[in-house]
Amino acid sequence: MEKLQKDGYSAFLNEYFKENEELFSSLSKKQKPHTMIITCSDSRINPALLLNAKPGELFIARNIGNVVPPYLPAKGSTQAAIEYAVNALNIPKIVILGHSNCGACAHMYHQPTEDEPSLPHVDNWLEYIVPAKSAAMLELHADKHKNIFELTEKHNVVSSLQRLMEYPYIQSRLVKNEISLEGWWYDIGSGKVEMYNFNTRDFEPVIK
Ligand SMILES: [Zn+2]
Repeated sequence: MEKLQKDGYSAFLNEYFKENEELFSSLSKKQKPHTMIITCSDSRINPALLLNAKPGELFIARNIGNVVPPYLPAKGSTQAAIEYAVNALNIPKIVILGHSNCGACAHMYHQPTEDEPSLPHVDNWLEYIVPAKSAAMLELHADKHKNIFELTEKHNVVSSLQRLMEYPYIQSRLVKNEISLEGWWYDIGSGKVEMYNFNTRDFEPVIK
């Protein structure tokens, strides 16, 4: 592991950093990211790779299940990251990036056995996904062919968007068209991304 880390850092320093020395020099004193990404902590999600973005472009907040908590009580790091992104950095776009096979969403349906470790903080945090689970179960009831996990992942993106729209400073920027919000669902196995359409209330491929 240590060798891997040293080799990885050495490759960064000798290759990527050297090729982008001017960029890093211009970024050394300030940042002006154009997009905030709120995504899952999952190791398979790499927003910069997915969007072919360079350092300085994306302001990223990650947590288990790409959750936006309610505006109050504001005690979490995600609320702080959103506040800083919008009010200090004036970022004009926020993307909620959900994904396939999300362990957080699957955990909502998991019945732990006695020999599994208890995850009290995870269980507590995932209460934010309960409304998405309810909406997913309702949709599955109407169409039994749908996948409950994918439905939960997508409803979870939508409920994060809805909570984001309840943040007072985001509301006021939306009215003035100063910010845009997007909900994405990324399919890890195929690389495809679907985006939430606020009019049809469905997810559609970003590139058809
Ligand atoms: Zn996840």
